[in-house]
Amino acid sequence: SEVLLSIKDLKTNFYTYAGVVKALDGINLDIFKGETIGLVGETGCGKSVTALSIIKLIQSPPGRIDEGSILFEGKDILKLKDHELRSIRGNQISMIFQEPMNSFNPVFTIGDQIAEVIMLHQKLDKKAAHDKSIEMLKFTGIPAPERVAKSYPHELSGGMLQRAMISMALACNPKLLIADEPTTALDVTIQAQILELMKDLKKRTGASILMITHDLGVVADVCDRIGVMYAGCIVELGDVRTIFFNPLHPYTKGLIGSIPKISQNVASRLDTIPGSVPNLITPPNGCRFHPRCSKAIDICRKEKPDVYEVEGGHFVMCHLYADKKRVS
Ligand code: SF4
Ligand code: MG
Repeated sequence: SEVLLSIKDLKTNFYTYAGVVKALDGINLDIFKGETIGLVGETGCGKSVTALSIIKLIQSPPGRIDEGSILFEGKDILKLKDHELRSIRGNQISMIFQEPMNSFNPVFTIGDQIAEVIMLHQKLDKKAAHDKSIEMLKFTGIPAPERVAKSYPHELSGGMLQRAMISMALACNPKLLIADEPTTALDVTIQAQILELMKDLKKRTGASILMITHDLGVVADVCDRIGVMYAGCIVELGDVRTIFFNPLHPYTKGLIGSIPKISQNVASRLDTIPGSVPNLITPPNGCRFHPRCSKAIDICRKEKPDVYEVEGGHFVMCHLYADKKRVS
């Protein structure tokens, strides 16, 4: 498949008074056209930092992307000027968040805000932008879109607001939609509806989706491929069936467990892995997982493992697979 976005050796750090938080320790990831790829891992592993780095929304200070490149259709996002970046953000790459309230301005109607995004990126007049905003609300399954367009954010339920935010994110036909925990704040029924919507959107828009979540049930349900993150690294990457049925990295094995019961979030899974998330100001030497790894060998405490391709498209960052094909 064709690559839409390619992240290479990305290192993002946060310069805090307590020290430098080494949040991303060399991320490599290709996102293919039309795929839904999930990034999964516990809080603080770098999922959101990866998402924000892609659209250069890392708050600076204290954050800084110190190394690497992010090629979007061959152009390095990290080298773009501000106006070039603005034309990509919200247009070719858009993002939806856990809290839709934060994506809307409380003093403007939903319709006006979606229309504004459309006018900013497309050469449409006010009337046409308004019509398009109604069309987009309809597109995400909102009943009575005209009424919703005239509503203020606080007048909508959480699920409806989430749909409205997705409408806004899709208004300019993005090639990449980044969804950061899009269902975490919703109750179970609404969560299921939004996930159905995400699956459906993929089919109808052809956009690539980067889905960030700590919920293994969500990735199993909607993703084609999964990247498992631990302490600022992608430690395993592969298609969804491979990761669930043949996990190889000791951390992934701990997450998935031996029982194929996946409708559980990572937080509850992690209870079964002894130890806690490392402090990324002074991360462990070598493999950042070694203090918690039951398979650790001598070299794990000294050298950061390379990434090996165990079989086609299945990548693992672990010394145990050093006999396989090294890729980075
Ligand atoms: Fe465990 Fe070593 Fe593999 Fe890290 S590199 S996951 S410590 S075996
Ligand atoms: Mg997060």
